Amino acid sequence: MLNSSVLVVGGGPVGLLTAFRLRQCGLACTVVEQHSWARNRSRASTFQPAVLDRLAGLGLTAPLVAAGVRVDRIRSWDLRTGIHQELDYAVIAAQTLHPFRLHLEQAALRRLLLQRLAAPGGPPVALLEHHRAEVLELNEAGEGVRLRLRTATGGDRRVQLAGRWLVVADGARSSLRQQLGLDFAGVDLPEPVLRLTLPALPEAITQRLAGVTYLQTVARSLSVLRMPEGWRLILRPLVHECQRALADDSWARAVLSELFASLVEPAWWQATPLHIDHYYVAQRCVPERQVGAALVVGDAAHVTNTRGGLNMNFGLLEALALAEALASGSSAGSTNQALARWALQWQGHTLDALLPRTSRLLAGGTPLDGRSPQLAGEGSDQLESGLRLRQASLLDLIAPP
Ligand SMILES: Cc1cc2nc3c(=O)[nH]c(=O)nc-3n(C[C@H](O)[C@H](O)[C@H](O)COP(=O)(O)OP(=O)(O)OC[C@H]3O[C@@H](n4cnc5c(N)ncnc54)[C@H](O)[C@@H]3O)c2cc1C
Repeated sequence: MLNSSVLVVGGGPVGLLTAFRLRQCGLACTVVEQHSWARNRSRASTFQPAVLDRLAGLGLTAPLVAAGVRVDRIRSWDLRTGIHQELDYAVIAAQTLHPFRLHLEQAALRRLLLQRLAAPGGPPVALLEHHRAEVLELNEAGEGVRLRLRTATGGDRRVQLAGRWLVVADGARSSLRQQLGLDFAGVDLPEPVLRLTLPALPEAITQRLAGVTYLQTVARSLSVLRMPEGWRLILRPLVHECQRALADDSWARAVLSELFASLVEPAWWQATPLHIDHYYVAQRCVPERQVGAALVVGDAAHVTNTRGGLNMNFGLLEALALAEALASGSSAGSTNQALARWALQWQGHTLDALLPRTSRLLAGGTPLDGRSPQLAGEGSDQLESGLRLRQASLLDLIAPP
């Protein structure tokens, strides 16, 4: 049986960042991932200022910024009236070292963390890929865990691990959450979200876009993100459109051609290369973060609407705080206290900040909502914009840099 001070189940961005920070703080750990480290799906694409600030202190932000697209302004564009509104990240420049959001696939952070974790130095971190955690046993006194794993490589083998603490970072479909008896209450949205990736857009459109633009018409909204490899469009079909929207790409091409009819010939949308995938959105969270020696973090603890790009960012912030709590304290008692505080604080942030902010965006809102175009640039508006952007950037959840 392998022994490690901390066992981390799940090698997504949240589990790997926890391991990275634990090692920096002097704690050994073992990370268990069911798939190959090389498997990376396209998912989150936005890094918020609060996360960039925190990662900068760990030496991780510079390589991400070098690879991504820096977005200094958020724009809304009402296609009915042609009115643009804009929010410049300069309004939060006094509160962050990174007054911009970064567009980059989350896989880039995961690759960077794996690279850094594989480098020598610090307490050992064991990275076990192709190991699926199947059975979890908690010590009744809350002082340790055992995990039974199944490995798919080299035959179907069983392995056992023991640790003082368990970090449950096995994602939205967490099986450990279930074994801990934690509910995952909330709602699933019936409509899928369509993600369209295009290598280029016509200049008639791009000259009206910022790095992120929320377009609005009577019946629908569309988010357009500039990515390192082109443009990403997020389109939400209405309930009665879902069947056609998921059948093939003709529905999306027709919608785009109609939305931009005054700017671009419909034939352009028929000819352009277009990659489409889709996913479903849910709003759920666990009732508590700690069960004995097990701490639940990231998507295993909460999932939200992806509009606004908050869920991974929130998970990364709470993972750093968790690693620091695990490493804090000179005695078992003080570590226990630090963990209890972590569990309460981040559950509170989930209920008071993460879920309400993403619910507002779910209803089609943007960080620009409530701004009056006539007031743009005036003092009160600046203040309100600064507050709204600070919250959308999660800066209110971390200590100032
Ligand atoms: C299409 C899409 C777009 C998104 N866009 C954004 C965005 O713009 N901004 C944002 O902030 N968030 C976004 N999100 C959410 C973001 O991707 C997640 O919040 C993030 O991946 C959570 O990281 P995690 O490490 O908690 O979980 P995951 O990334 O899901 O990682 C969990 C890991 O655990 C492993 N695992 C699961 N069970 C076991 C087991 N029993 N044993 C061993 N390993 C196991 C899995 O293989 C996986 O590697 C998006 C999500 C999707 C699906």
